[in-house]
Amino acid sequence: MTADQSYDPNNIFARILRGELPCEKVYEDEATFAFMDIMPRSDGHVLVVPKAPARNMLDIRPEDLSRLMVSVQKVARAVKSGMAADGLTIQQFNESAGGQVVFHIHFHVLPRWDGVPLRP
Ligand code: ADP
Repeated sequence: MTADQSYDPNNIFARILRGELPCEKVYEDEATFAFMDIMPRSDGHVLVVPKAPARNMLDIRPEDLSRLMVSVQKVARAVKSGMAADGLTIQQFNESAGGQVVFHIHFHVLPRWDGVPLRP
């Protein structure tokens, strides 16, 4: 059975954006917000989200996606430099079948070091 694929305004990241749940903020501008992942798969694992509601890549408005991607790049550069990483993995999942668990679109920014695997 296909789950309801509409936006739920009470998802965890919407609640973080409304200040109802705590987070470790690392970046914010008018349209986007970034915070530390609570279960980091590498040291310095950051999540970048739009403030506008969107479930994932399938429903986000192109103008919100553009601003989100600019922030992903800013955060990626800062995290690579701040963590003295050798590289980065940037990930984004869509719907349960695609590995998505929290249904407010987010990009994972994962610092990487040569020879060091991601934690599961
Ligand atoms: P996956 O869990 O497969 O990576 P998602 O792409 O939906 O699926 O990622 C959700 C991410 O949100 C996970 O990395 C998880 O650790 C993180 N997370 C869940 N709750 C919180 C929270 N309260 N604060 C910060 N990160 C959270």
